[in-house]
Amino acid sequence: MSDVRVAVIGAGVCGLSTATELQDLGVGDVVVLDAGHPGDGSSGLSVGMVETQYVEAADIAVRAHGRRHYDRLERDHGLTFVRGGYLRTARSAADLDAYGRSIERQRAAGVPDAEVLTPAEIARRWPHLVVDDLVGGLFGPSDGHIDGYEYCTLAARLVRERGGRVLTNERLVGAEASSGGWTLRTPRRTVEADVVVNAAGPWAGAVGDLLGAPVPLVPQLHGAVTIELTEPLTPLLPFVMDYVPGSGRAGVYFRSERADQLIAGLHVEEAVADAVSPDVPLGRVDDAFLEELVERLTERLADTDGAAIGRSWTGLYPMTPDHRPIVGRHPSRADVVCAVGGGGNGIQLAPAIGRVAAEALVGVPEPTFAATDPGWDPARLAPAAPAATQAP
Ligand SMILES: Cc1cc2nc3c(=O)[nH]c(=O)nc-3n(C[C@H](O)[C@H](O)[C@H](O)COP(=O)(O)OP(=O)(O)OC[C@H]3O[C@@H](n4cnc5c(N)ncnc54)[C@H](O)[C@@H]3O)c2cc1C
Repeated sequence: MSDVRVAVIGAGVCGLSTATELQDLGVGDVVVLDAGHPGDGSSGLSVGMVETQYVEAADIAVRAHGRRHYDRLERDHGLTFVRGGYLRTARSAADLDAYGRSIERQRAAGVPDAEVLTPAEIARRWPHLVVDDLVGGLFGPSDGHIDGYEYCTLAARLVRERGGRVLTNERLVGAEASSGGWTLRTPRRTVEADVVVNAAGPWAGAVGDLLGAPVPLVPQLHGAVTIELTEPLTPLLPFVMDYVPGSGRAGVYFRSERADQLIAGLHVEEAVADAVSPDVPLGRVDDAFLEELVERLTERLADTDGAAIGRSWTGLYPMTPDHRPIVGRHPSRADVVCAVGGGGNGIQLAPAIGRVAAEALVGVPEPTFAATDPGWDPARLAPAAPAATQAP
């Protein structure tokens, strides 16, 4: 059992995954501080998709890890994991070639059931999808969604059951480092720690500044809506992702929530807009978003006459400038570990982000992703480290 004292800032999916992984690695003294409650941030606002339909081996490995993690929580603790499948559309022969490579790499990563579908096969399985402009798709039948809020509530309970603390309504407002470690201040208390994990999601920039360990974040505003259908749509639709990675242009996604309701939004993995403040007011999506969403949706989905927008909400993707998470010891403060930057994939990546952060903190001889490095090392963003502190 390690006697290092760790404070994790943020009880979203990334902070709580890091806390449980630290406990798995034998760290007994773990405290998670959140300005609100577990799941209050982006994690409770996501649509919760967990899937492995990527092309690069490293992207697949971290997501396969995430899916196995949620499988285990479903089996052992009753986490709701709805496996409706995930279809990534293909518009070119190059997409199809890449998807063929994905199948092989998914098999190597322990995901045996992904398949490349022809347009005819897509239309046969889901007759409501428009396939005229497609050359096929990559389909993961075992992919599905979780509820980010439910996961955070469960993970907070597990952290507490194993002797850790999760403190709510405790916003970090000040931090002093001395030879005896960190003194962290919230408006109501101080907390002592040897190492601090910055897992503050869209607020990680502000928390990094408080810790003297800056992280470049580009929080992006995203929204999602429910679509209420007049007639039940059967068979239920999988999660359809009609976005071309690297295009720099948002694509539509949608899935059946129930036979008479869809959930839909616009997704992009590049930071396509200026950063917004993490404290930007959240609420309903705006008219421009709705117009674009409806236009894209009707290009991909037939028979939606009479459908109406129901509920809508906005939340933040905690993006980084190069669209990859920042995970590991901070290059200029070794007593700060970063677990940030999940972007629009933070739910599916959180188990791997937590694992990589915990392994960097504890120091393990064989890191889990040594063979397929996802490129998350914080050193890439601040290579010059003039006054690195000693790792506790
Ligand atoms: C509309 C939408 C749909 C999405 N869909 C998906 C999806 O389908 N699949 C997927 O994988 N991802 C999805 N995402 C992305 C995903 O939700 C995020 O990447 C993920 O939730 C980020 O988790 P986090 O733990 O980094 O941040 P958060 O969940 O935001 O957690 C950060 C926590 O830090 C706390 N905090 C902040 N400042 C302080 C402070 N000073 N002191 C103490 N605590 C502090 C906050 O209260 C918050 O609880 C979606 C996001 C949105 C907005």
